[in-house]
Amino acid sequence: MIREKKKKFTFGPVPSRRLGRSLGIDLVPFKTCTYDCIYCQLGRTTNKTTDREEYYPVKDIIHAVKEKLRGISRPDYITLSGSGEPTLHSRIGEIIREIKDITDIPLAVLTNGSLFWIDEVRNAVLDSDLIIPSLDAGDEDAFVYVNRPHGDISFKKMVDGLCSLREDYKGSIWLEVFLAGGITDKETEILKIKSWTDRINPERIQLNTAVRPPAEDFVRTVSKERMEEIAEFFGPHCEVIADYSKVHDLGEFHSTRNDVFELLKRRPCSIDDISDGLDLHRNETIKYVQELLDQNLIRMKRRGDKTLYIEDENKTKNEI
Ligand code: SF4
Repeated sequence: MIREKKKKFTFGPVPSRRLGRSLGIDLVPFKTCTYDCIYCQLGRTTNKTTDREEYYPVKDIIHAVKEKLRGISRPDYITLSGSGEPTLHSRIGEIIREIKDITDIPLAVLTNGSLFWIDEVRNAVLDSDLIIPSLDAGDEDAFVYVNRPHGDISFKKMVDGLCSLREDYKGSIWLEVFLAGGITDKETEILKIKSWTDRINPERIQLNTAVRPPAEDFVRTVSKERMEEIAEFFGPHCEVIADYSKVHDLGEFHSTRNDVFELLKRRPCSIDDISDGLDLHRNETIKYVQELLDQNLIRMKRRGDKTLYIEDENKTKNEI
């Protein structure tokens, strides 16, 4: 069990493309995951594992959630996500039930869906209101290439787990499909992915592509036109995840976004530098950085293997 003096279990509420104002709950240390996706916005996985542990004490997490809820206006969702794969927390089921006992705010689990072939993991999430798992490939080869899973997880185990989740779970499943340009947006790959989404039968399919700086430079963005074409092929319950910039207009996001921008005007910073400097959770920082990138107010710069962000002086500055 890990006890970090300054561990922040909650982050936000942050603007979410799908969930409105989402209060994030982080259940595992950075970056503990069953995958090491080529597109991960958190960078490369440092602890690739399938070991389920009580990474942080349940009572500390619940205490942090209670404290946070006291100090903020009601978020639209409480979302278990964070610095890696939340189902790796061995007591996620208790965490869900305890949160449901203290609030009626809908609870979502943002997961890569890699462990639902384990009965205990499936059973643990049954009390949540919404599960957003991922399916980024249609066969073993593409799965290994895109998600770089832990050796214990085969494509078959993963998709069988998603099919079983569908059978057992009464809440909504929104399946996120990340498409990597030139890799999984090809016709043959799309056909394979669709054969699985048909079997998993989620309430919604949400297509995503590399709109944030990915772990690997070679990951290409799929054009909006191609994404829309693919969404149409998947059917009426499929959507390209919409531009979320509008939710950032809320005043409470405005001042922190401004703080991030002010910092980047002074010096180039990595995501970690910004998070440390402004005492923000890494996931929250990524949201603000993405928005500033979208507005062309800052730009990305590589220094060695580090990604830094800096004010873009060549662009016309918008009001922020
Ligand atoms: S599953 Fe999520 S956290 Fe894990 S490597 Fe992939 S994108 Fe990153």
